[in-house]
Amino acid sequence: MINLELPEGLKQTKEFLHNVARDLLRPISRKYDVAEHVYPQELEIMRGAQAPSSKKDDKDKTDKKEKKQRTDTLGQVISVEELCWGDLGLLLTIPGRGLGNAAIAANGTDEQKKKYAGKWAAMAITEPEAGSDSFALVATAELDGDEWVLNGEKIFVTCADRCELVVVWATIDKSAGRAGIKSFLVEKGTPGFKLEHLEHKLGIRASDTGTFVLKDCRIPKENILGSAEVIKKEGFRGVGKTFDATRPAVAAMALGVARAALEFTKEKIEESGITFDYEKNGNNVSSNEKEFYMMEANLEAMRLLIWRAACMQDSGERNSLEAAMCKAKAGRTGTLITQKCCDLLGPLGFSQDYLAEKWIRDVKITDIFEGTGQIMHRNIAREILGVKIM
Ligand SMILES: Cc1cc2nc3c(=O)[nH]c(=O)nc-3n(C[C@H](O)[C@H](O)[C@H](O)COP(=O)(O)OP(=O)(O)OC[C@H]3O[C@@H](n4cnc5c(N)ncnc54)[C@H](O)[C@@H]3O)c2cc1C
Repeated sequence: MINLELPEGLKQTKEFLHNVARDLLRPISRKYDVAEHVYPQELEIMRGAQAPSSKKDDKDKTDKKEKKQRTDTLGQVISVEELCWGDLGLLLTIPGRGLGNAAIAANGTDEQKKKYAGKWAAMAITEPEAGSDSFALVATAELDGDEWVLNGEKIFVTCADRCELVVVWATIDKSAGRAGIKSFLVEKGTPGFKLEHLEHKLGIRASDTGTFVLKDCRIPKENILGSAEVIKKEGFRGVGKTFDATRPAVAAMALGVARAALEFTKEKIEESGITFDYEKNGNNVSSNEKEFYMMEANLEAMRLLIWRAACMQDSGERNSLEAAMCKAKAGRTGTLITQKCCDLLGPLGFSQDYLAEKWIRDVKITDIFEGTGQIMHRNIAREILGVKIM
């Protein structure tokens, strides 16, 4: 029998972050959707803050059972779901929680971790001609004495304006293909490293997304993340591993937004005097009720897929298939749920009186970044069939 009961510590984290989402994020959700590119000062309170830790409780419990199971990724997806119930764009702009921070934590040396502790790090992989196919990136890094010299263009970088440094992906040896691709720590203010412009976006407008140009940008030799050695069979492994860890979290973003839409819609339907009766004979269920129950079931399916991928990550199992499955399902279903909720809410669902129209715009990104829905389906096919599909 599978036990889906969360450890006590994670339940407390979930409750704490739900309160943060309700009391801090949701009230300023519309404000920063409208005031795109304005930094939400209200989030400064979260700089460096930690949710009440579950670690000790969990450790005590698991030790008692003589079975150690890490819960870092499960804790992360639960936290992300709660905060995105508040606002996805604002989650992406919580100070110091960039994708680059995750890369430094995973691959940085002790010195790098110490030097950049508390600094906000973005991640720059995408280029004008390299999106889904990250291996096609053309930005270069050449060693010149004690410095790397970086050249190239990086687009659609999350936290581009607000971050303090960027983890930039570039090739040190084009002839080596993916094995030549490495990541570099580039601090803001480094000569030759310029933020060109910020994007105006459909959704997650509270999050700043921008383009960087690197022109003969010199950084110290020690600012490479990981080894400078080009090992053919290990090429690009870092990115693959990072994606397996981060895709469940992106799926959890979709879950949080879809849940917000569904809960809000249910509340409004109930306010209009209609009650949901889960015992009712299926033959007597109206078409709208049926739609609603289907969405609730889909939301639960999203959560189960996400938790499975997260738990596998925590127990050190390879989860490329499961991470792709949960992201494909969540990006697509999150999009469909927010749209259907808008239908069920009537004309107000389309107005700015409610956040429903914003949730439609926000959730769409979960089907794009960290691998599009199509790319997730391709990866699933690759994993199941064991064949290379481009
Ligand atoms: C708001 C936002 C924030 C972002 N943040 C970051 C960030 O912080 N760092 C970063 O590096 N990048 C970031 N990105 C970039 C994002 O990861 C890419 O947009 C994404 O990987 C898709 O790449 P692309 O836009 O070049 O689309 P393309 O690769 O050009 O794809 C276009 C379409 O073709 C489809 N397609 C492509 N190849 C295939 C294939 N082989 N089979 C089937 N269909 C295919 C895609 O699914 C998509 O529908 C961000 C993007 C956005 C919009």
